[in-house]
Amino acid sequence: MSDSKIIVALDYSTADDAFALADKLDPARCRLKIGKELFTRSGPNVVDSLVKQGFDIFLDLKYHDIPTTVAKACAAAADLGVWMMNVHALGGAAMMTAAHEALGHHADRPHLIAVTLLTSMDQTTFEQIGFQGSITDTVLRLAKLADDSGLDGVVCSAQEAHALRAQHSDAFQLITPGIRPANSERGDQHRTMTPIEAITAGSNYLVIGRPITAASDPMLALKGIEDSLI
Ligand code: C5P
Repeated sequence: MSDSKIIVALDYSTADDAFALADKLDPARCRLKIGKELFTRSGPNVVDSLVKQGFDIFLDLKYHDIPTTVAKACAAAADLGVWMMNVHALGGAAMMTAAHEALGHHADRPHLIAVTLLTSMDQTTFEQIGFQGSITDTVLRLAKLADDSGLDGVVCSAQEAHALRAQHSDAFQLITPGIRPANSERGDQHRTMTPIEAITAGSNYLVIGRPITAASDPMLALKGIEDSLI
C-alpha cells in the first residue's frame, strides 16, 4: 500500500507494455490506473498480476448500468483486490448506493469514486443530451449526489477542484487528470494544471500518464513530480 498522491495511467493496449512500465516503477512511490482499453484486451489477469506486484490499482471502468449490475461489477472489482474503482454519477443515487453497499463497510474496502460529467463534454454536447444550465453547476450537483450516496469522491478537472473542495468535507476525495508538470508536453490536454497547482486547488490524487509513461526514465520523471510537491 502506497501513500503516494500520484496515479500513473497505464494507457497501453497490451499487458506486456503495461508490465514493462510497471517494472520501472516502485509500488511504494505511485499507484496505477487501468482503463477500458487495457482491461478489455488483457482482462482481470493484468490487474491480478500488478496487485501481486504490490501496486495499488485504480480500475477506471466507469460503470453505468442498472443498480444490481453495477453492484455486482463493483463486488467483482473488489474481489480482484483493486484499491479504487469508479461509476458514473449519471447512473443515479440508487445505482451509486447499490455500488457502495456492495463494497461493504470495512475500513480497507476499495475507494468508490464517481465520474460527474466527462471533461470531453462541451456545452453543445451537454445540451444535445437534454441537459440545461451550466456544466459547472451540474458537476457540483452530481458530486453532491455521489457524496450523499456514500461515495468516497469524484474524478474532476483541476479547474473544478476548488469549487468541489468548498462544497465537500476534507474526507471527500478529488482525483484529477489533465496534469502537466511545468515544461512538459501538453499533448491533447487543453486546460492543464501543474501537480502543485492541482494539490493546492484541493486535489487528493493526480492521474498522470504521458509525462511519466513517455519519459526515458519514468522513475526520474516521477521523482521530479514528487519534488515539485514538497
Ligand atoms: O497522458 P495523460 O496524463 O494525458 O493521461 C491522463 C489519463 O487520465 C488518461 O488515462 C485519460 O484517459 C484520463 N482522463 C483524462 N481526463 C479526464 C478523465 C480521465 O485525461 N477527464
